[in-house]
Amino acid sequence: RLILAIETSCDETSVAIVENGTKILSNVVSSQIETHRRFGGVVPEVASRKHVESITWIIEEALDKADVRPGQLSAIAVTEGPGLIGALLVGVVAAKTLAYALDLPLIGVHHIAGHIYANQLVHELRYPLVSLVVSGGHTELVYVEKEGSFRIIGQTRDDAAGEAYDKVARALKLPYPGGPHIDRLAHEAEEALPLPRAWLEPESYDFSFSGLKSAVLAALNQAGMKGLPIDARAVAKGFQDSVVEVLVEKSLRAVQEYGAKQLLLAGGVAANKGLRQQLADRCASAGVPLIAPPLSLCTDNAAMIAAAAHLKLERGQLSSLELKADPALDLEAWSV
Ligand code: ATP
Ligand code: MG
Ligand code: FE
Repeated sequence: RLILAIETSCDETSVAIVENGTKILSNVVSSQIETHRRFGGVVPEVASRKHVESITWIIEEALDKADVRPGQLSAIAVTEGPGLIGALLVGVVAAKTLAYALDLPLIGVHHIAGHIYANQLVHELRYPLVSLVVSGGHTELVYVEKEGSFRIIGQTRDDAAGEAYDKVARALKLPYPGGPHIDRLAHEAEEALPLPRAWLEPESYDFSFSGLKSAVLAALNQAGMKGLPIDARAVAKGFQDSVVEVLVEKSLRAVQEYGAKQLLLAGGVAANKGLRQQLADRCASAGVPLIAPPLSLCTDNAAMIAAAAHLKLERGQLSSLELKADPALDLEAWSV
């Protein structure tokens, strides 16, 4: 069964065609990063307008690349939330229009369920599993007892990991989005600026990154006032070491406690080389199978939305043409 999926929750306009929730026939992603860079972040109004400009040709290109005619499709899927409301609306309206015109079932998809199920495009999943979701807006440990059931066992109490990366990068005057630049500098570093780790309560799976971010800003301010040179590499490495250590330790503890058969990595920050390396090392020595999508499936794309939509299509859990974009959609409630 072929699903055409649309993703417009933030600053990527993407359309994909995926067979049976596992095989990608096309996955066209148009990023607006260049447009937003001069503002140092995503400007919601600009994002919506860009989505409107691109959505039609991207739908056509996805069909072309997959060599699929609209009549061969089984369903239309779309990210219904969470995300920027104006951006989500563009995808939802396009998806409803296609579903209505082609008389196809419509499936609204939770964006984070999409990030998690991106892993199904590269590997067979075994339950129960735990997923570490690290993206621009989310940092969560999700327990997936069986296919499509989501329980958040820990989450950030303040900044998301990606948000912290981008803020620290900004303080170091690196271009937006800063995550990949910090990652690169950290690898070039010889020493690390000593920074705190936010473990929170011993039993907690929650995260906190704003204290760490403040510690970086304080160190930069102090160096600035004293007129001392700033070693951006050491700052990047100190910051990355702290983020990665906490993410890795809590993920492995969750895997043990919940008896997970796999650990899934998900979200844009899953592209981080330091995180991937450290997780791979720790999982190898603990005998835990680690699944991580290739970088192109870590950041926002529509193929992951099709993969998650397939869970609902199989169970006949369809959305109506009344489907509304919901910027604060709940992940657990979206479970199949
Ligand atoms: P959400 O999925 O929570 O709605 P989003 O879709 O904006 O947020 P993603 O596209 O999944 O987020 O990820 C983007 C984030 O990933 C940015 O904050 C970016 O800096 C970060 N990122 C990308 N590559 C890396 C990297 N190599 N190291 C660290 N962070 C990275
Ligand atoms: Mg993005
Ligand atoms: Fe995302």
